[in-house]
Amino acid sequence: MPDQDLSRYSLETRLVHEGERGPESGWRPTSMPIYATSTFLYERTADLDAAFEASEGRYVYSRYGNPTIAGLEAAVAAAEGAQGALACGSGMAALHIALLAAGTPRGAMEPHPRHILAARDLYGSTYTLLRDFFAAQGTPVTYCDVSDLGALEATLEQVRPDVVLIETLSNPLLRVADVPAIAERTRAAGARLVVDATMTTPILSRPLLQGADLVVHSATKYLGGHGDVVGGILAARTSLVLDTARRYARLLGAILGPFEARLIARGVKTLALRIRQQCANALAVARWLREHPRVARVIYPGLEDHPQHHIAARNFSGLFSAMVTFEVAGAGREDIFALIDRLRLILPATSLGDIYTLVSYPAISSHRDVEPDDRQALGITDGMLRLSIGIEDVADIIADLDQALAR
Ligand code: PLP
Repeated sequence: MPDQDLSRYSLETRLVHEGERGPESGWRPTSMPIYATSTFLYERTADLDAAFEASEGRYVYSRYGNPTIAGLEAAVAAAEGAQGALACGSGMAALHIALLAAGTPRGAMEPHPRHILAARDLYGSTYTLLRDFFAAQGTPVTYCDVSDLGALEATLEQVRPDVVLIETLSNPLLRVADVPAIAERTRAAGARLVVDATMTTPILSRPLLQGADLVVHSATKYLGGHGDVVGGILAARTSLVLDTARRYARLLGAILGPFEARLIARGVKTLALRIRQQCANALAVARWLREHPRVARVIYPGLEDHPQHHIAARNFSGLFSAMVTFEVAGAGREDIFALIDRLRLILPATSLGDIYTLVSYPAISSHRDVEPDDRQALGITDGMLRLSIGIEDVADIIADLDQALAR
């Protein structure tokens, strides 16, 4: 075992080693330390050998596992009712690994699913991942309106996918997927269901307990919650799928760093409090917007006129998300630019899920690459804005919208 007392070494050597490996002495830190270490030391080489063999709780090298990252994974696994979770470098990395793992049958590691069936209105980069990575490498991808369960059954029957990918809540139209119904049909067709639950979080719904095989989050959003970190996490219903995902993540190096893991784990501690406040604020903002003379349309799953309000009421926990989409009557691009520039509190930042209220203009952000006619056909108009409601006093959020809409 390396020396604890380094006094006999030279200055140069002590600068390298001093203070790094304090003795364990019967105390424990109250909160999870950031284990900023790439490797782990053992008393004897036989212990190191055993650690290489162990699948959990022993650490050798941080690409394989690290206690700070494991702490975050344990918290999210518990929240999702999962067998375990795997933290990744971003939401996109988590989606990539989830799709690979879902498409890997028992035992063998096969680099690609046979056929992916995906919801039609996915997050833009997810769509690009399917097109420029999976489809380009030979995995056929078929899209389907998963809100039409008859169409879903027919497509499952026709293309026989091994992986189905959906989002709990779509962006920016906030369509609600009926996860239990989709999971039942996916399982009957012999495929695995991957659910991107970034927008809803385990506070609104727990897709694994509703029949999904894998749940994915961009932890950059609500889990982190403070707009200061990029990360992703997946949680799996079975250890078989989880172990497969871990093997892919190790090989591809798609892991999260311990500093980011700690920031996200800290965010997770206040997730329930933040989400409840954000959802309450969102409902108030949606109701206020609905009465505003310049607002042509408000999309919020908590409003009774939302087309899937009944699904949200049945499948969610009584909360209806903190996302509100609305359309300014007769507004074009110039009007929306001017309106956004008038906002004084609400931030025009390209993300969601932060404690701050954010506004996004889908025509120039999430749906920038979609042709204007196609955008229109999808129902995403040039007067449409999406709000991600924060934890501020709702009266201040409404006052900011009011003054921006006034002119
Ligand atoms: N999934 C959804 C629904 C998202 O909104 C995003 C990012 O906006 C992602 C996945 C990708 O996450 P990240 O940016 O952390 O890679």
